[in-house]
Amino acid sequence: MKQDNKKPGKRPMYFYYLIAIVAIFLINFLLLPAISRRSIEETDYTTFLQNVEAGNVEAAQVGDEYIYYTMTEDGQTSYYETLTMDDPDLVSRLYAAGVKMEGVETESTSLLWTLFAGYVIPILIFVLLGRWLSNRMMSSMGGNGGAMSFGKSNAKVYVKSSTGIKFSDVAGEDEAKELLTEIIDYLHDPQKYTEIGASMPKGALLVGPPGTGKTLLAKAVAGEAEVPFFSISGSEFVEMFVGMGAAKVRDLFKQANEKAPCIVFIDEIDTIGKKRDSAGFTGGNDEREQTLNQLLTEMDGFDGSKGVVILAATNRPDSLDPALLRPGRFDRRIPVDLPDLQGREEILKVHAKKIRVADNVRFGEIARAAVGASGADLANVVNEAALRAVREGRKFATQEDFQESIEVVIAGYQKKNRVLSSKEKLIVAYHEVGHALVAAKQTNSAPVTKITIIPRTSGALGYTMQVDDEEHFLMSKEELENKIASLTGGRAAEELIFHTVTTGASNDIEQATKIARAMISRYGMSDEFDMVAMENVTNQYLGGDSSLTCSFETQTLLDRKVVELVRTQHEKARKILEDNVGKLHEIAKYLYDHETISGEEFMDILCKTPELTVSET
Ligand code: ADP
Ligand code: MG
Ligand code: ZN
Repeated sequence: MKQDNKKPGKRPMYFYYLIAIVAIFLINFLLLPAISRRSIEETDYTTFLQNVEAGNVEAAQVGDEYIYYTMTEDGQTSYYETLTMDDPDLVSRLYAAGVKMEGVETESTSLLWTLFAGYVIPILIFVLLGRWLSNRMMSSMGGNGGAMSFGKSNAKVYVKSSTGIKFSDVAGEDEAKELLTEIIDYLHDPQKYTEIGASMPKGALLVGPPGTGKTLLAKAVAGEAEVPFFSISGSEFVEMFVGMGAAKVRDLFKQANEKAPCIVFIDEIDTIGKKRDSAGFTGGNDEREQTLNQLLTEMDGFDGSKGVVILAATNRPDSLDPALLRPGRFDRRIPVDLPDLQGREEILKVHAKKIRVADNVRFGEIARAAVGASGADLANVVNEAALRAVREGRKFATQEDFQESIEVVIAGYQKKNRVLSSKEKLIVAYHEVGHALVAAKQTNSAPVTKITIIPRTSGALGYTMQVDDEEHFLMSKEELENKIASLTGGRAAEELIFHTVTTGASNDIEQATKIARAMISRYGMSDEFDMVAMENVTNQYLGGDSSLTCSFETQTLLDRKVVELVRTQHEKARKILEDNVGKLHEIAKYLYDHETISGEEFMDILCKTPELTVSET
């Protein structure tokens, strides 16, 4: 499998020529004879002469071996042949009968011609076609940068300012920026560092969830740095042919060494840097493994003091091969986290500069509503707001556009054409008010800002939005319990009013279970297990795969505790709704009529005639 490593890409060309030649032979042997075999009837010489005498023969070709002649009967021309005889009078006979005469080329010239037409021309055509195709392939694979691109590795080289992206375009992420600035500074003036005896790490790894601006940061580094910047994505190393990825790595580092000091950026490094499994020699991941090995070799090989710094980005650091992370390779980690409230506001403002915005837009408020959104989500929010403004025929985006677009990004498009039956709509209204009421009647839970029963494409039939007054980093046990109670409030309202349950609570159930489980297995919030972790969470950025670390008996107990916890909160929610059933009816009716109500409207109705309320116990 691997002998061809040295000449990547040659094999398909040979293969191609082989197919072409076989095709030519097939054409010649099967098709050409079929064409010339157009029904020629054999006759004897006597018949031929009789026909000439009778004046039937129209034209004749006299060759050394055969005479071909044609006769026309009823407007139809038929072809005949006969063996040539030693007949000196033939020409004068034919002439007397008025037959058109033609000579026939000798065998040798006709053979030459057949060879030329049948083999040489097609081969020429195939070769030229092949050349053209392979040229096209090469250029589409390699060189979209003309002089800037090089050799086999299609890393793009950015020199200063060629990306046009600066650190000022990246909002928030101050810690990451600071660490990167240090690296850039080192490359500008290595002496300052070497005088003290400090040496820069060879590699730094940008780590964070998707959409937090890792690629953007790297591009900003390219914009800020006054040294060459090589950028390549991990997926570009993964090639069709074994060995090509490794060749690319070799090539990339050769270039980098020549251009030092410089920065090499490998985006999405997890595509090649995944843990190597010990599955053995048969795996289809040969190529990836070889590429990774080559990368490791190159990183060890080059001289750190020369000034080549390798940056890489990934959103799954724990799936990386440990060899990549050991000292001397990517030993510095630069965390790029989801933005906090202030960061979100800054990101919104950075992107809002690109569109026209009304003066009175309150970005702080929008940032607050976009809890958990990444930089990419926020960029999307701004764009959606601009699109909505255009749709509504406005010249600039307003606060309302932003608010709507947050819901679009977070909960999917409003789907106006999906109609619920009135009974369904009523159930959804009670369900959502159930959530909102339970939330509102507990202290320590985020205020309700909006309730809607307009279906979204995301599949949610309704949706209650709760927004915290301020950012929370710590949640108390009580807050988590209240959250579970609010989540069960929807189902509780259905039970209370309609004495039945629907499928509409599946998402609530999922979330409530998740919280309850985490409380017990990870946050140590139960009496039984004290501060013992029963779950390990790996891959925290991509949803979090968790693995249980406890015995089977403990798992059973854990499951039972989770059920108990949710049931208690569910009962609490039902109790709250029973005590406030008048308000439940009132607000649900209002919501049913209006489809969407704001937090203020909700609070107005709730506080109109104060009822006796129950606080949590
Ligand atoms: P990642 O590589 O971390 O998955 P990207 O760098 O590709 O994320 O970010 C996607 C887009 O999100 C960027 O092009 C930018 O528009 C926006 N974005 C993300 N983070 C920020 C930020 N901190 N400041 C400004 N824009 C950001
Ligand atoms: Mg990226
Ligand atoms: Zn619900």
